[in-house]
Amino acid sequence: MARAYNFCAGPAALPLEVLEEAQRDLVDYKGCGMSLLESSHRGKQYSAVHEEAVANIRELLGLTDDYAVLFVQGGASTQFAMVPMNLLSEGTTADYTNSGEWAGKAIKEAALLGNVNIAADCGGDVPTRVPAAGELQLTEGAAYVHITSNETISGAQWKVFPKTSAPLVADMSSDILSRPIVATDFGLIYAGAQKNLGPAGVALVVIRKDLADRAPADLPTMFRYATYIAKDSLYNTPPCFSIYVVMLVTRWLKKIGLENMFRQNVEKAGRVYGAIDASEFYRGTATKECRSDMNVTFRLPDESLEAAFVEDADALGLKGLKGHRSVGGIRASIYNAFPPDGIDTLVGFMRDFEARKG
Ligand code: PMP
Repeated sequence: MARAYNFCAGPAALPLEVLEEAQRDLVDYKGCGMSLLESSHRGKQYSAVHEEAVANIRELLGLTDDYAVLFVQGGASTQFAMVPMNLLSEGTTADYTNSGEWAGKAIKEAALLGNVNIAADCGGDVPTRVPAAGELQLTEGAAYVHITSNETISGAQWKVFPKTSAPLVADMSSDILSRPIVATDFGLIYAGAQKNLGPAGVALVVIRKDLADRAPADLPTMFRYATYIAKDSLYNTPPCFSIYVVMLVTRWLKKIGLENMFRQNVEKAGRVYGAIDASEFYRGTATKECRSDMNVTFRLPDESLEAAFVEDADALGLKGLKGHRSVGGIRASIYNAFPPDGIDTLVGFMRDFEARKG
């Protein structure tokens, strides 16, 4: 079977060896006579999977015992609300940076729940970008400072994180584990799994445990981080199969090494940006210093050419290059699992398309 080059923004490409292992084990998990899909979340097969997923993430992020790794349902969108529900106590203010659509959604939820200060706003800037750390107008005694480490739609990424005295909270949905970070500089990190970590259905939350104590006493059980910490994300039935695939993906990533993965990501993205910069036909949409290594966004001279580009690419097995419906253009999402040889194919196609239509 010929695998397509999958440029989808999420759910996104998974490592082939992970898919193959999940396939091999699907019906009869490790000889136990049943699928993991059918197994108890309290049974020994699943328990080992859950523990390894947590351990792999702890190791990859270099977490200390002060931090907990949680698996929560409802996607990153639920975290837009859970973060302020738990951390934004009455009478305090949270600082949010607006860098585009995803930051905007996080801000909208927080503003429903408490006081929000927009510490920097470049959400509407063209070319798109994220704020520079020095631009932030922070609130004295803020409950936390929220950033969106990678804007999946606009293709703008924080390269250097701000140093803040309030706990730093980051939506890392589209670049979690794509590069080494000092995770202990953050109070809380969250990410929907379906880009760099695994399938949809689970969101990862990494939280400095003391922050969970801030939640108001009347917050319902399933919305409290403290519940997930106390019960190791097993208060209720977790999305077992999604977590199983996260375990396989993080095992795969440990074999490669996060530094190597990062180098490969920079190299992959650099080749696409190189092709954009070498041409008058393609135009990148993010400022150069903020260009995302995960989502490469660009435009062609007009929308009819963009439609033709997406269609011709699709016919060649280059799938999912259409930009987000809210902004149009082209977006090549090239997360960890996107294979480097697919970049050669894309760049070759870009040159060929320009030669034909430019
Ligand atoms: N934040 C970012 C940066 C995203 O890219 C996305 C999804 N594309 C979300 C949040 C929302 O994630 P979910 O669909 O898991 O709710």
